Amino acid sequence: MPLKGDRIRLPNRAASHTASAVRICTPAKINLILRVLDRRSDGYHNLWSLMQTVALEDELRFQVRADSTELRLKCDVASLPTDRRNLVWRAAALVLDRAGLQVGLDIEITKRIPLAAGLGGGSSDAAATIVALNHLLRLGWSGGEMAQVGAALGSDVPFFFFAPSAIVRGRGEDVAAVMVTGARWVVLVHPGFPIETRWAYDRLAATREHVRPLSEQHSRFASQASLAWDDVIPLMENDFEQPLVPVYDAIRKMKARLLSEGAETALLSGSGATVFGIFRDEDSAVRAQTSVGQVRGWRAYAGRAGTASLSCQEESSDPFRVC
Ligand code: ATP
Repeated sequence: MPLKGDRIRLPNRAASHTASAVRICTPAKINLILRVLDRRSDGYHNLWSLMQTVALEDELRFQVRADSTELRLKCDVASLPTDRRNLVWRAAALVLDRAGLQVGLDIEITKRIPLAAGLGGGSSDAAATIVALNHLLRLGWSGGEMAQVGAALGSDVPFFFFAPSAIVRGRGEDVAAVMVTGARWVVLVHPGFPIETRWAYDRLAATREHVRPLSEQHSRFASQASLAWDDVIPLMENDFEQPLVPVYDAIRKMKARLLSEGAETALLSGSGATVFGIFRDEDSAVRAQTSVGQVRGWRAYAGRAGTASLSCQEESSDPFRVC
């Protein structure tokens, strides 16, 4: 496979012994900018997005099984399938296939990222699976190689190898890491119902008359190695808001509520239904989270924007990292 991107850094002691289990915490993403451009001949849309991780994490644990070559998956959310429909199962099977290995694995998923919420939870779990197995099975794949494997699983997956912030183009496979300078806090608000990504794309295509080209200001972002929050905030937008707000008034209400709680700006993430607000400091974010979380049916989370990249903890020698 052609190499692209940085190597994911592994602990130095990794080579000195063989762990049979790893634990990995994997973050949600938000789209600070999401433009959905023209439809491609393969049926997908070309995207242009500035994406960033946020400190709301799922937790995954992988253990090699000596007694069989079966993949066994457990998840604490009963509605999520634990067979090949789960992105973690598919990611594990794909890694083993690419590596030409037959290995039995026990995998446990603890979900904290809401489902079908525009927060990329399934994609993040898939990326974490690739990182964990690369580590556990000593595959030695670079970040770029892992991103390439991830692209076969979903358009949001490659981003997580370039986290915490990146500009994502095309079908999601063209990713360039970027620094977003200056600290901010994010409050995520989930209205208690899911929005299926495919339905949101169909609604977008059916309701817009033409595709607005990418603005010059956004194009300019792509040539910069670092972006300041103060420059990004006035240019934040999401093409899904226009088609989805008339259907789901909760999106408008969540935005209004976050702004009234002091958010610098508030926006729909991905294809929804989560809305996020940007706050200058932890205190104001936590105050807003407490207040907004009291609305019946809504769940609110506060976390730092742009958390660290994916990293594994070997269970044989490390105390568990608390996600
Ligand atoms: P995106 O922002 O990438 O479009 P999303 O945040 O809206 O995604 P996800 O929670 O990632 O949505 O899941 C989308 C669908 O994928 C869910 O409806 C779920 O059935 C399926 N799925 C498969 N595996 C997983 C997983 N490990 N975690 C979450 N969803 C999964």
